[in-house]
Amino acid sequence: MTSLTIAGVSAVSQGAQILVCEDEPDIAEILRSFLSAQGYEVSTTATGAEALERIAEIQPDLVLLDLMLPDQDGWEVLEEIRKTGTRPVILLTALGRVEDKVRGLSHGADDYISKPFDLDEVRARIEAVLRRSGPRLRSKIWIDDVRKEVRVKERTISLSPKEYALLKLLISQPGRVFSTEEILAELWRGSPYASAQDVQKYAYLLRKKLETDPARPEFLLTVRGFGYRLAA
Ligand code: CA
Repeated sequence: MTSLTIAGVSAVSQGAQILVCEDEPDIAEILRSFLSAQGYEVSTTATGAEALERIAEIQPDLVLLDLMLPDQDGWEVLEEIRKTGTRPVILLTALGRVEDKVRGLSHGADDYISKPFDLDEVRARIEAVLRRSGPRLRSKIWIDDVRKEVRVKERTISLSPKEYALLKLLISQPGRVFSTEEILAELWRGSPYASAQDVQKYAYLLRKKLETDPARPEFLLTVRGFGYRLAA
Protein backbone atom coordinates (compact mmCIF):
# COMPACT_ATOMS: atom_id res chain seq x y z
CA MET A 1 0.00 0.00 0.00
CA THR A 2 1.39 3.40 -0.88
CA SER A 3 1.30 6.36 1.44
CA LEU A 4 -1.58 8.74 1.00
CA THR A 5 -0.51 11.47 -1.37
CA ILE A 6 -2.92 14.23 -2.22
CA ALA A 7 -2.69 15.52 -5.75
CA GLY A 8 -4.63 18.33 -7.42
CA VAL A 9 -8.32 17.91 -8.10
CA SER A 10 -8.88 17.28 -11.78
CA ALA A 11 -11.81 18.62 -13.69
CA VAL A 12 -13.21 15.20 -14.50
CA SER A 13 -13.48 14.24 -10.86
CA GLN A 14 -15.22 17.33 -9.62
CA GLY A 15 -18.31 16.41 -7.69
CA ALA A 16 -18.69 12.93 -9.18
CA GLN A 17 -20.18 10.48 -6.74
CA ILE A 18 -18.39 7.21 -6.06
CA LEU A 19 -19.71 4.26 -4.10
CA VAL A 20 -17.01 2.09 -2.56
CA CYS A 21 -18.19 -1.42 -1.71
CA GLU A 22 -15.40 -2.93 0.36
CA ASP A 23 -15.68 -4.97 3.55
CA GLU A 24 -12.15 -4.41 4.83
CA PRO A 25 -12.52 -1.25 6.96
CA ASP A 26 -8.91 -0.08 6.56
CA ILE A 27 -9.02 -0.27 2.78
CA ALA A 28 -12.47 1.33 2.65
CA GLU A 29 -11.24 4.21 4.80
CA ILE A 30 -8.07 4.75 2.77
CA LEU A 31 -10.13 4.89 -0.42
CA ARG A 32 -12.75 7.13 1.16
CA SER A 33 -10.26 9.70 2.44
CA PHE A 34 -8.09 9.58 -0.68
CA LEU A 35 -11.01 9.97 -3.10
CA SER A 36 -12.67 12.66 -0.97
CA ALA A 37 -9.41 14.60 -1.12
CA GLN A 38 -9.58 14.28 -4.93
CA GLY A 39 -12.91 16.09 -4.94
CA TYR A 40 -15.21 13.10 -5.22
CA GLU A 41 -18.27 12.55 -3.10
CA VAL A 42 -17.66 9.15 -1.56
CA SER A 43 -20.01 6.69 0.14
CA THR A 44 -18.89 3.33 1.48
CA THR A 45 -20.71 0.07 2.09
CA ALA A 46 -19.39 -3.23 3.40
CA THR A 47 -21.86 -5.68 1.86
CA GLY A 48 -23.29 -6.42 -1.57
CA ALA A 49 -26.89 -6.07 -0.41
CA GLU A 50 -26.20 -2.67 1.06
CA ALA A 51 -24.34 -1.62 -2.10
CA LEU A 52 -27.37 -2.40 -4.29
CA GLU A 53 -29.64 -0.42 -1.96
CA ARG A 54 -27.29 2.53 -1.91
CA ILE A 55 -26.92 2.48 -5.69
CA ALA A 56 -30.70 2.73 -6.10
CA GLU A 57 -30.78 5.51 -3.55
CA ILE A 58 -27.85 7.78 -4.47
CA GLN A 59 -27.22 6.80 -8.11
CA PRO A 60 -23.45 7.07 -7.96
CA ASP A 61 -21.50 7.97 -11.09
CA LEU A 62 -19.13 5.07 -10.51
CA VAL A 63 -18.89 1.99 -8.29
CA LEU A 64 -15.68 0.52 -6.89
CA LEU A 65 -16.64 -3.06 -6.16
CA ASP A 66 -14.65 -5.56 -4.13
CA LEU A 67 -15.17 -9.08 -5.47
CA MET A 68 -14.89 -10.86 -2.12
CA LEU A 69 -17.71 -9.66 0.10
CA PRO A 70 -19.02 -11.22 3.30
CA ASP A 71 -22.63 -11.70 2.21
CA GLN A 72 -22.50 -12.22 -1.51
CA ASP A 73 -20.20 -13.00 -4.39
CA GLY A 74 -19.04 -9.76 -6.01
CA TRP A 75 -19.86 -11.28 -9.42
CA GLU A 76 -23.53 -11.48 -8.42
CA VAL A 77 -23.45 -7.86 -7.31
CA LEU A 78 -21.89 -6.88 -10.64
CA GLU A 79 -24.62 -8.78 -12.47
CA GLU A 80 -27.32 -6.98 -10.48
CA ILE A 81 -25.72 -3.60 -11.18
CA ARG A 82 -25.54 -4.44 -14.89
CA LYS A 83 -29.24 -5.27 -14.98
CA THR A 84 -29.98 -1.72 -14.02
CA GLY A 85 -28.03 0.22 -16.58
CA THR A 86 -24.68 1.37 -17.81
CA ARG A 87 -23.24 2.77 -14.57
CA PRO A 88 -19.44 2.33 -14.62
CA VAL A 89 -18.03 -0.34 -12.31
CA ILE A 90 -14.37 -0.90 -11.42
CA LEU A 91 -13.64 -4.23 -9.76
CA LEU A 92 -11.34 -4.34 -6.78
CA THR A 93 -9.86 -7.62 -5.77
CA ALA A 94 -7.06 -9.42 -4.07
CA LEU A 95 -7.20 -12.21 -6.60
CA GLY A 96 -5.24 -10.41 -9.29
CA ARG A 97 -5.44 -13.32 -11.69
CA VAL A 98 -5.62 -12.90 -15.44
CA GLU A 99 -8.75 -15.06 -15.75
CA ASP A 100 -10.59 -12.86 -13.23
CA LYS A 101 -9.63 -9.79 -15.20
CA VAL A 102 -10.96 -11.35 -18.39
CA ARG A 103 -14.10 -12.52 -16.60
CA GLY A 104 -14.60 -9.08 -15.08
CA LEU A 105 -14.30 -7.26 -18.36
CA SER A 106 -16.49 -9.74 -20.23
CA HIS A 107 -19.13 -9.42 -17.50
CA GLY A 108 -19.43 -5.71 -18.08
CA ALA A 109 -16.90 -4.29 -15.63
CA ASP A 110 -15.28 -1.13 -16.95
CA ASP A 111 -11.91 -1.78 -15.37
CA TYR A 112 -10.11 -3.86 -12.84
CA ILE A 113 -7.74 -2.99 -9.98
CA SER A 114 -5.71 -5.66 -8.14
CA LYS A 115 -4.87 -5.38 -4.47
CA PRO A 116 -2.50 -4.28 -3.16
CA PHE A 117 -3.03 -1.20 -5.26
CA ASP A 118 -1.26 2.07 -5.73
CA LEU A 119 -3.48 5.07 -5.00
CA ASP A 120 -2.20 6.94 -8.03
CA GLU A 121 -3.27 4.00 -10.16
CA VAL A 122 -6.70 4.02 -8.52
CA ARG A 123 -7.04 7.71 -9.30
CA ALA A 124 -5.88 7.29 -12.90
CA ARG A 125 -8.26 4.40 -13.57
CA ILE A 126 -11.23 6.20 -12.05
CA GLU A 127 -10.50 9.31 -14.08
CA ALA A 128 -10.16 7.30 -17.28
CA VAL A 129 -13.45 5.48 -16.72
CA LEU A 130 -15.28 8.69 -15.81
CA ARG A 131 -13.84 10.46 -18.83
CA ARG A 132 -15.12 7.69 -21.09
CA SER A 133 -18.57 7.73 -19.54
CA GLY A 134 -18.53 11.45 -18.81
CA PRO A 135 -21.19 12.99 -21.05
CA ARG A 136 -23.71 10.31 -20.22
CA LEU A 137 -23.41 10.70 -16.47
CA ARG A 138 -26.74 11.52 -14.84
CA SER A 139 -28.25 12.07 -18.25
CA LYS A 140 -28.86 8.49 -19.23
CA ILE A 141 -31.42 5.90 -18.44
CA TRP A 142 -31.51 4.43 -14.98
CA ILE A 143 -33.56 1.39 -14.04
CA ASP A 144 -34.38 0.62 -10.43
CA ASP A 145 -35.26 -3.04 -10.74
CA VAL A 146 -36.46 -3.30 -7.14
CA ARG A 147 -39.03 -0.53 -7.52
CA LYS A 148 -39.56 -1.19 -11.27
CA GLU A 149 -38.91 2.47 -11.75
CA VAL A 150 -37.25 4.04 -14.79
CA ARG A 151 -35.65 7.43 -14.87
CA VAL A 152 -34.61 9.19 -18.04
CA LYS A 153 -32.68 12.42 -17.75
CA GLU A 154 -33.95 12.86 -14.20
CA ARG A 155 -37.55 12.21 -15.32
CA THR A 156 -39.34 9.21 -13.86
CA ILE A 157 -41.41 7.38 -16.45
CA SER A 158 -43.96 4.67 -15.95
CA LEU A 159 -43.74 1.63 -18.22
CA SER A 160 -45.99 -1.36 -18.82
CA PRO A 161 -44.43 -4.77 -18.02
CA LYS A 162 -43.69 -5.45 -21.72
CA GLU A 163 -42.17 -2.01 -22.30
CA TYR A 164 -40.11 -2.49 -19.16
CA ALA A 165 -38.94 -5.93 -20.29
CA LEU A 166 -37.94 -4.55 -23.70
CA LEU A 167 -35.94 -1.72 -22.15
CA LYS A 168 -34.27 -4.11 -19.72
CA LEU A 169 -33.27 -6.42 -22.54
CA LEU A 170 -31.80 -3.63 -24.68
CA ILE A 171 -30.01 -1.99 -21.75
CA SER A 172 -28.40 -5.29 -20.74
CA GLN A 173 -25.99 -4.77 -23.64
CA PRO A 174 -26.00 -1.12 -24.65
CA GLY A 175 -25.05 -0.59 -28.26
CA ARG A 176 -25.68 -4.18 -29.31
CA VAL A 177 -28.29 -4.75 -31.99
CA PHE A 178 -31.07 -7.12 -30.92
CA SER A 179 -32.91 -8.71 -33.81
CA THR A 180 -36.70 -8.81 -33.89
CA GLU A 181 -36.48 -12.61 -33.55
CA GLU A 182 -34.31 -12.33 -30.44
CA ILE A 183 -36.70 -9.85 -28.87
CA LEU A 184 -39.64 -12.11 -29.68
CA ALA A 185 -37.86 -15.08 -28.13
CA GLU A 186 -36.93 -13.15 -24.98
CA LEU A 187 -40.15 -11.27 -24.37
CA TRP A 188 -42.74 -13.67 -25.72
CA ARG A 189 -40.84 -16.89 -25.17
CA GLY A 190 -41.46 -17.87 -28.75
CA SER A 191 -45.26 -17.72 -28.45
CA PRO A 192 -46.83 -18.50 -31.87
CA TYR A 193 -49.28 -15.65 -31.30
CA ALA A 194 -46.59 -12.99 -31.16
CA SER A 195 -45.13 -11.48 -34.31
CA ALA A 196 -42.74 -8.85 -35.55
CA GLN A 197 -45.64 -6.36 -35.35
CA ASP A 198 -45.72 -6.80 -31.58
CA VAL A 199 -42.04 -5.93 -31.34
CA GLN A 200 -42.65 -2.87 -33.51
CA LYS A 201 -45.61 -1.86 -31.39
CA TYR A 202 -43.73 -2.04 -28.11
CA ALA A 203 -40.67 -0.33 -29.54
CA TYR A 204 -43.03 2.46 -30.64
CA LEU A 205 -44.71 2.66 -27.20
CA LEU A 206 -41.40 2.57 -25.34
CA ARG A 207 -39.95 5.24 -27.57
CA LYS A 208 -42.92 7.51 -26.91
CA LYS A 209 -42.19 7.40 -23.19
CA LEU A 210 -38.41 7.32 -23.34
CA GLU A 211 -37.62 9.95 -25.91
CA THR A 212 -37.92 13.70 -25.71
CA ASP A 213 -38.72 13.65 -29.44
CA PRO A 214 -39.88 10.15 -30.48
CA ALA A 215 -39.55 11.11 -34.15
CA ARG A 216 -35.84 11.68 -33.61
CA PRO A 217 -34.94 9.09 -31.00
CA GLU A 218 -31.74 9.51 -29.07
CA PHE A 219 -31.87 6.21 -27.12
CA LEU A 220 -33.97 3.55 -28.79
CA LEU A 221 -32.64 3.28 -32.30
CA THR A 222 -33.95 1.23 -35.19
CA VAL A 223 -31.30 -0.57 -37.19
CA ARG A 224 -33.05 -1.09 -40.50
CA GLY A 225 -33.26 -4.69 -41.60
CA PHE A 226 -31.77 -5.93 -38.30
CA GLY A 227 -33.63 -4.79 -35.22
CA TYR A 228 -33.12 -2.37 -32.37
CA ARG A 229 -30.39 -1.10 -30.14
CA LEU A 230 -30.06 1.21 -27.19
CA ALA A 231 -27.59 4.01 -27.80
CA ALA A 232 -24.89 4.04 -25.16
CA1 CA B 1 -13.13 -8.27 0.64
